[in-house]
Order: sequence, then structure tokens, then C-alpha cells
Amino acid sequence: MPLASALSQIFQFYNNAFSGYSELSKRLTSFKNALSRIEEEYLGNDQHDAYELLGIITSIIDQEFERVYGETSDEFEYTYHPPHNSLLMSPWYEYCGSRCQTPIKELFEVTLLNQITCLQCNKVSISFEDTLNISLPIPRHSNARTLNESFKIFTKQETISDFTCKACGPGMTSVKTSRFWKLPEILIIHLKRWRKDNPDEKDIIWYPVNGLDVQPYVHNSSKSKYYNLR
Ligand SMILES: [Zn+2]
Repeated sequence: MPLASALSQIFQFYNNAFSGYSELSKRLTSFKNALSRIEEEYLGNDQHDAYELLGIITSIIDQEFERVYGETSDEFEYTYHPPHNSLLMSPWYEYCGSRCQTPIKELFEVTLLNQITCLQCNKVSISFEDTLNISLPIPRHSNARTLNESFKIFTKQETISDFTCKACGPGMTSVKTSRFWKLPEILIIHLKRWRKDNPDEKDIIWYPVNGLDVQPYVHNSSKSKYYNLR
């Protein structure tokens, strides 16, 4: 686990007695070298996006853990006829059985439950989607932009016009909803600030420092969580 080991060397530096900045600099350099051996774009001294870097580091370390703990399968889909909410637990356990849990997933992983309802036959297809961070859109048509509005857009119902239903076939109209199914201890939120048409625009987003309640965006049979934002 080259990157995880290099990162643990940095943490060990802070846990042990102070041994000088040259030692810290050595460990930071080893970490950067370990990273750039895996991701060549970090070879030089160019500036990089902090959010992308965080995403890459967590994902590489997660893969290193998976090599030790066992592989994870990302493919999973299940179909049911409503009303059957309680039956969602069975595919969830099946899904969990197909995946391995790593320390990175325990800390950061968000699971979304996507439900697509075919408007022809009312069958619901579900899939679980995992991510180590969430990237939220910025509300564009609002005077007081809030993080809650970003969550609303992220989870709002969408109409899909070319859905392939297992029963009715391709080209069906359907509606898709996404809700949080499992929330992590640490939720990494990224705001999609940059816009192609106006890259210099400054956006102000209001958010609660303490007690962000994500309950309205959580599936009704899942537990919610409160987050303090740092
Ligand atoms: Zn259908």
C-alpha cells in the first residue's frame, strides 16, 4: 500500500516527538513521489485543484485497501413492483455482500439509492451508487443561495425519455429519483462553482456551520445524520 504507507508516515510525524522540519519535508516529499508514481500529472510542481487531489488520494488509498480486503463489484441492479419499500433491504444486503468495506469507505463513502419508475408499467428499477464525495450544483436562479437548495437540485426528480424498461423495452418515459441511502461519518461536499459561460463569477452560498440536517434528502427507510461543516 505505497500511498497509504507514505501518508501514515506523515501522521506518525505529528504523533511522535517533534523531530524537525527537515524530517517532515522528507516525509511530504516521499508522499508526493508515491503519488506521482501512480498519477503522473503530479510529477512536476504545477498547481492542482485541491478537491480533485483529495478525490484522487482517497480513491487510490481505497483501492490499495481493496487489494488487501478483497475486490468490490460496482454493478448492481434490481427491479420490483411497488408498494414494496421493505423489500429494499434484501437487495441492499445482497449489494453489501458483493462489496468489501475498507477504512476509507467507512469514513467517507456515501451510498445513493436511485429509483427509476417506468411510467408505462410502473415497475421500479433500483440501483445503489457509491461515491467518496458529493459534487453539488449551485442554485442559479435565486437571490439567497443556500446549501439546502443545492441539495434540493441534486436530489430533484428527473424525467428520462429514453429509458430501457426490462418489461416494456427501450424508449420508455420514466422518472428518476435519487436519495441518500447510507451516509458516512465525514461527508465531503464539493460545490460546482466554475461555469464555462462566466468563469469569473463569484458565488456566495449560505450554509449552517453546525447541524446541517440532510434528512429531507435521505430515503425514508434510512437514518439521517447531522453534519458540522469545516
Ligand atoms: Zn415498463
